[in-house]
Amino acid sequence: MLLTCVLIAGSTGTATATTSGNAPVSASTARSLDDINEDIRSAQYIINRFWATHWSEFFPGRYSPPRVLGAYDGAWGNAVTCRGYPLPDDNALYCWPPYDFVAWDVDLMRMGYRQGDAWVYLIIAHEWAHAVQARIPERLLSRQLELQADCLAGATLFGAAEDGVLFFETGDTEEIAAALRAHADDTPWTDVSDHGTAAQRLGAFNRGARQGVAGCFA
Ligand SMILES: [Zn+2]
Repeated sequence: MLLTCVLIAGSTGTATATTSGNAPVSASTARSLDDINEDIRSAQYIINRFWATHWSEFFPGRYSPPRVLGAYDGAWGNAVTCRGYPLPDDNALYCWPPYDFVAWDVDLMRMGYRQGDAWVYLIIAHEWAHAVQARIPERLLSRQLELQADCLAGATLFGAAEDGVLFFETGDTEEIAAALRAHADDTPWTDVSDHGTAAQRLGAFNRGARQGVAGCFA
């Protein structure tokens, strides 16, 4: 589990994820949904803070955050689209400019959250990394966009830990490894839409964790 500083509560200016679906929930479900929403808010805050703080160390220009569309329910279809396509069920995405927003399926978050809260940090850090890719000079982009996003996710979360705003607890890195494995391809990276094998995804995340942002552009 990831523990975050209390500075999330009452902070202003952070986007708030909304849960879709208003079905009655039991008390225990309601509590866990509160927890997941708090973790989602914390993750957004911490990830945005990391890039706002460190942007100028690595990139030209000024940092601006992507819009946070937040949670959607892909099973409903039709509600929100990216470039005319419905948002993918049980997945998460960054919609490239001019749309420039991050969003995630509420079911994906809930499913992963049952395995541990590190999941939501990884997903949001990865999608936010795509927004970073959209903001930097094209020559810096890896052809392996997804693996570079994993690397940047590692750099973000471990960089935030170095900054003292995020604390890794026992089990967090195992949760992240499990999440990357669960969403890996069976075959090695072949084209820009590939995420790569579990080993490639883990390797990329760990490179960012160890070497920081610069390690993702080596
Ligand atoms: Zn991606």
